[in-house]
Amino acid sequence: MKELTLKSTIHVADFSELTDQERKLIEEAKAATHHSYAPYSHFHVGAALLLKNGIMVPGCNQENAAFPSGLCAERSAIFAAGAQYPDQAVTMLAIAVRNSKGEFLEEPASPCGSCRQVIIETETRFKQPVRILLYGTKHTYVMDGIKELMPLSFTEF
Ligand SMILES: [Zn+2]
Repeated sequence: MKELTLKSTIHVADFSELTDQERKLIEEAKAATHHSYAPYSHFHVGAALLLKNGIMVPGCNQENAAFPSGLCAERSAIFAAGAQYPDQAVTMLAIAVRNSKGEFLEEPASPCGSCRQVIIETETRFKQPVRILLYGTKHTYVMDGIKELMPLSFTEF
């Protein structure tokens, strides 16, 4: 039997190594954590998208007592962008998380499987990768596209 080895590349960056635009997007994601509604998980997630036209679109997790009715920060941002700017490609996505004590996580948190699936469809829809920035106070994970987190993904192609 042969073995298939899949490779992902994640750049581990200090905040100072990021571009001004990347830092600005992370600050937007951090600010979005304050709009999170997370009375159940106490896991306050903020996301921010950079669209091709330069506009930043924030999103944050919105929970509900009927659990499947809530939505993750990443998808709330992507769907809000789709509703407001349907012809604008998403070029970058930043994610930041605060814990129940209100502190930003030291290590980056990564998107759930459903969000990864929506991000890959966003890339397919606009025919360009979405640069991903996962913020942690220790370092930020930077990826050139969601494929780094989702090899062998399910797409229409
Ligand atoms: Zn998610």
